[in-house]
Amino acid sequence: MIDPCPRCDYSLTGLPVDHACPECGLRYDAGSRVWRVKLPKSLVAFGLIGGFGCLKMLFLARDVYNTEGVAVASFIYMLTMMLAVTVCWVMLCLRRAVTSGMIAAVVAEGIIVRGLASGHLNPHTIAWDLIDSAVIKKTWGERKPAVVLHLTGNAEDQVLVSGVFADHQDAKCFVQLVHARVNEVRK
Ligand SMILES: [Zn+2]
Repeated sequence: MIDPCPRCDYSLTGLPVDHACPECGLRYDAGSRVWRVKLPKSLVAFGLIGGFGCLKMLFLARDVYNTEGVAVASFIYMLTMMLAVTVCWVMLCLRRAVTSGMIAAVVAEGIIVRGLASGHLNPHTIAWDLIDSAVIKKTWGERKPAVVLHLTGNAEDQVLVSGVFADHQDAKCFVQLVHARVNEVRK
């Protein structure tokens, strides 16, 4: 069961497993599946450490105000503000990169991808008859495996789906689902 809708994020709770999204009309069935990425723990840790660092500097500014005077204290205060703004900005950028990243869904009408790697910042549907094959891409240094979707027609047409698969097994599951659907369509 997929919930919420991978194309428009509408909640599909309580609807039949074989149905269409009431909001955008996306058809899905019992064999549909979604891969998506949540905010990574490292990003949360970065925010906490950054916030803690800012607090620490505020206290430092207070102490310095008592010993060194207002000029040094306001300098540290200014640095604190700059650090706080930087931390917020980096977190926003990373969050956008992550969340606008990372959806892959297998549904009745095709594959839905959304992500920087795939070249689609908004959910994009690739119909089953346009897909030739799916291949797991092995990359050194990448923690998560990626899958390359080869499209029919031009051999160079491909879509990279990356970042959403937890491990090799997860990516393999996606590839198997894709090939099953492609074969079904070709029959
Ligand atoms: Zn929808």
